[in-house]
Amino acid sequence: MNAPLSPPRPIQALPDQLISQIAAGEVVERPAAVVKELLENALDAGATTIVIRLEQGGIKRIAITDNGRGIAADQMPLALARHATSKITSLNDLENVATLGFRGEALASIASVALLTLTTRSADAPHAWQLGGGDPETSLRVMPASGAQGTTVDVQDLYFNTPARRKFLKSDQTEYGHCAEVVRRIALSRPDVAFSLTHNGKTVDHWQVAEIARRSAHILGDEFAGARLPLDETAGGVRLHGFAGLPTASKSRADAQYFYVNGRFVRDKLLTHAVRAAYQDVLHGDRYPAYVLALEIDPAQVDVNVHPSKIEVRFRDSRSIHQFVFHAVSRALAQTSATAFGNAPAPLSAPSAVMPWRREQQGNFSAAFAGSSAASPSGPTSGPASGNASAGYTSSQTPYSAPNSATNSAAYAADFAARRASPAGVAQTMADYGALFSRPATSGETSARSGSNAAASLPAEEFPLGFALAQLHGIFILAQNTQGLVIVDMHAAHERILYEQLKDALDADAMQVQAMLIPVTFHADPVEVGTVEEHEAILQALGFDIAVLSPTTLAVRAVPALLRNADAQTLARDVLRDVREYGGSRVLLERRNELLGTLACHTAVRANRMLSAPEMNALLRQMEMTDRADQCNHGRPTWIQLGHGDLDKLFLRGQ
Ligand code: ADP
Ligand code: MG
Repeated sequence: MNAPLSPPRPIQALPDQLISQIAAGEVVERPAAVVKELLENALDAGATTIVIRLEQGGIKRIAITDNGRGIAADQMPLALARHATSKITSLNDLENVATLGFRGEALASIASVALLTLTTRSADAPHAWQLGGGDPETSLRVMPASGAQGTTVDVQDLYFNTPARRKFLKSDQTEYGHCAEVVRRIALSRPDVAFSLTHNGKTVDHWQVAEIARRSAHILGDEFAGARLPLDETAGGVRLHGFAGLPTASKSRADAQYFYVNGRFVRDKLLTHAVRAAYQDVLHGDRYPAYVLALEIDPAQVDVNVHPSKIEVRFRDSRSIHQFVFHAVSRALAQTSATAFGNAPAPLSAPSAVMPWRREQQGNFSAAFAGSSAASPSGPTSGPASGNASAGYTSSQTPYSAPNSATNSAAYAADFAARRASPAGVAQTMADYGALFSRPATSGETSARSGSNAAASLPAEEFPLGFALAQLHGIFILAQNTQGLVIVDMHAAHERILYEQLKDALDADAMQVQAMLIPVTFHADPVEVGTVEEHEAILQALGFDIAVLSPTTLAVRAVPALLRNADAQTLARDVLRDVREYGGSRVLLERRNELLGTLACHTAVRANRMLSAPEMNALLRQMEMTDRADQCNHGRPTWIQLGHGDLDKLFLRGQ
């Protein structure tokens, strides 16, 4: 039955070379991993300029030259030895490791699977020294060489001696792509270091020393640079800073997501999830946010030694890190038009015009990020000219709006400013302005309002979205603000407002209910009737009162006050379907936002609904008060700004 056992073989210690080759499987899985290890060594050596030369996707050659402190000649053989490092000496060091490397196995691993030549010169050396290379005669001897201070590690013919591994490599172009991505990741973490990258003799990238705003704009592109929110929050000794891309800068792939922990690029499930969750409300499910975020934390609170590539980390207190990251990013994204005014999508503006915080500043990663946050993100936008131009365009001098709407504007402005000061005032405003959508304002009403407040003067910046001029094709609202023209997609904006209001009301367990004067009855199928009977409490929490009149008839007796303008029967049917589909109380937890999104969409003002000036202004004011009002629930912008500069450009003025 049993196969005959082969005779026992003696246990033997593996030779060093073989140990390194086995380790290389983890450390050097492809050329990009070599690039990463060599770049980290260069940075650990204090380099300020790093040149990366690749041939054939790095498979043929990876040569990285730095101007760091170099290695003393007598230490060179140790640099290539396994588990030899200058970076830690004790377990205590390991827990507080401040360098990128510390395992002392990268160079040894690389040298075991490729032809490695190390050329280096330290500050006090009269000339450079070289070690390694393919020649068996000389490769183990340190030989004099020429070269400036710093180090070049030249790695050729990766896996020449391990053909099985070589087979796993992809095409040159694919391997090159991975190498270039590693260079981008590291370059983003160190804007204070200059990098240049050549492939097959051609210079592909060259990044000069810059601050992080500029470096990240270079690396992630104009689209990101023109649509991102700076953030910088500290709590309990943990700091998160960087840039969160607006939904307009989102991508169809997750290839613009850069997260760093203590300067080290990581791809960590916990962190990715926290950011993703923060974007959930502003981004459609199949889009991926773009971001560059850096977490600074006491090294003792995080273990980077989870995997040889150090791309995963483990936090002591992962729950609170998740919470912190989620809230910090959420808060940044929740900035309304009022606070994040300069960052709204502005397709006609040059990227620099929407980056008021962009500043020339040098420094390391942290300093650069810190600098970017010191400049106010909410300061005035656009180029130097607009400051003067806007002075002449205050809302009270508007030449185009009818006098009527100008005084109304004044009234709303004063009203709004007063109400915004208190939470109760905000709630009341929501209710009042919501009412404007259900019944056109009568002339009596508007004159009463303007009568009491007409004299109030407006600090223009109190109203970032300005004042309504007109409605265009029943779809857009045109408004004038100090910067120029604002165009609002009225349905998208209203939908977002309703959605946020519904969420707030539900969270506060304060869904106001509107009883119907005459209940709306409709013919229902048995499943719908069953759902009403089974889930009465949930329906009530959502603000619905639906009664079973007969086995085939339902009556809607009340709906959420926020949704009173929608068709009651359609609303009821939708709610019943969602409650049934998502399974009872789950609808209030996991599917809550989807449900509210559907409801908001049904209720939001439809195209071709003519709005009065007060209604349009009310909508603008609500947008200013609503979190995340810059995007609709699907991540599309709800409004855009055309600045004076943009308008001038359209007419070729001043050229
Ligand atoms: P680790 O980085 O984990 O220490 P490595 O095998 O990557 O291990 O490097 C071994 C040692 O060689 C380092 O600790 C460092 O002292 C030295 N070294 C490697 N690369 C450089 C470099 N570019 N400049 C100066 N020293 C270097
Ligand atoms: Mg290293």
